[in-house]
Amino acid sequence: MSRSAHPAGPRHADVLTEGHYSAPAADLNVLDEKVWSRTVTRDADGALTVGGIGVARLAEEFGTPAYFLDESDFRARCRAWSEAFGPDADVFYAGKAFLCRAVVRWLQEEGLHLDVCSGGELTTALDAGMPAERIAFHGNNKTVAEIERAVEAGVGRIVLDSFQEIVRVAHIARSHGVRQRVQIRVTVGVEAHTHEFIATAHEDQKFGIALADGQAAEAVRRALALDSLELIGIHSHIGSQIFDMAGFEVSARRVVQLLAEVRDEHGVELPEIDLGGGLGIAYTSDDDPREPHEIAKALSDIVTRECESAGLRTPRISVEPGRAIVGPTAFTLYEVGTIKPLEGLRTYVSVDGGMSDNIRTALYDAEYSVALVSRTSDAEPMLVRVVGKHCESGDIVVKDAFLPADLAPGDLIAVPATGAYCRSMASNYNHALRPPVVAVRDGGARVIVRRETEEDLLRLDVG
Ligand SMILES: *Cc1c(COP(=O)(O)O)cnc(C)c1O
Repeated sequence: MSRSAHPAGPRHADVLTEGHYSAPAADLNVLDEKVWSRTVTRDADGALTVGGIGVARLAEEFGTPAYFLDESDFRARCRAWSEAFGPDADVFYAGKAFLCRAVVRWLQEEGLHLDVCSGGELTTALDAGMPAERIAFHGNNKTVAEIERAVEAGVGRIVLDSFQEIVRVAHIARSHGVRQRVQIRVTVGVEAHTHEFIATAHEDQKFGIALADGQAAEAVRRALALDSLELIGIHSHIGSQIFDMAGFEVSARRVVQLLAEVRDEHGVELPEIDLGGGLGIAYTSDDDPREPHEIAKALSDIVTRECESAGLRTPRISVEPGRAIVGPTAFTLYEVGTIKPLEGLRTYVSVDGGMSDNIRTALYDAEYSVALVSRTSDAEPMLVRVVGKHCESGDIVVKDAFLPADLAPGDLIAVPATGAYCRSMASNYNHALRPPVVAVRDGGARVIVRRETEEDLLRLDVG
């Protein structure tokens, strides 16, 4: 499929010497399908369309900045994950990546389960009709009130994160007269980010209970001793934006070792393991994510092999992709405001949003790509930094990228792969109004989260 209205060969920029920026590998008019959602293309005039609707119309109707979410892509990714894992596994969408009631309904229609990690996420899920038994409740410091609501609602599982929480959940379940299904989150001494992982014996972080020093085995002992808890399995989540399956391999092996120890000590084979989320997506053309069926095969092969060698029945597997489902399905549309060429450095392109709608670049040096989307251009590429309008020099959306040198105020530019952890981490810094999320599908567009208004800000400011 050609996504360019003006296909042309690669061009080269005069790349500046600070840092090491490679010249753009491809025609800037070509939208790399790896980083854009599935229905994105350019129309005959060169403007980007999603779900059959052009960005000029979207900007006019919904304003900028705004997130446009490709609903059919979202649904296709849900189906790809659940088909890849099949009937003997469960796919939990990690709601923290992006959650609203429309998304909850799509998840239900596509047969997924849902992870929540706060009372607010739980309320959103229940309000949109997600059956409680399909919800897992996570978090390292769930409040008593949150645990009570989760138990009352009848959530399918609570993932226990500390020794204190084992007792807390048991007590609340007993006082409600229920036997709560729980998993224990363990830290397996694996930390994975993108292309590397580190396997260590110790974990210096706030989540989970360490396998090291027999801590996790002790947690299992305590949970099994409490009648109001039904321990259904062990949970491990090793990181984020992971491409290398080797980290999952070490994690699965260590979790299966624990299952074998539990069998030897208690005569119980725990029926489930959850390997968490963290699967990577393409933010730039340099990223090569795996397809869900490859991930499913790799994970189930690892677990099957480890269980065979430990003489265990293969447990039911669950996974928790957040970013890998919603991340690629949305882009943020901005209008270019001021353009500041800094001689010998780069050109600063300011947009009408910034760190309030995408904190990831400032927070952890995330990489993004960007494209001019209201038109194509035959101008030479120029090295740019896309920055926001906030009072903070770290307010960077895209650190290094190329845009056409004839970029002008009023042009629309878009940053792809902003579906995960952008709207959900958005803030009101500088009293910015958080942008809307607009679902686009088959020639129709509808707001699923509306833009904040100044009245919204003043409503909380009670004087
Ligand atoms: C954040 C998180 C996920 C989802 O991570 P992604 O990188 O979005 O796939 C899954 N499980 C747990 C426990 C998490 O904390």
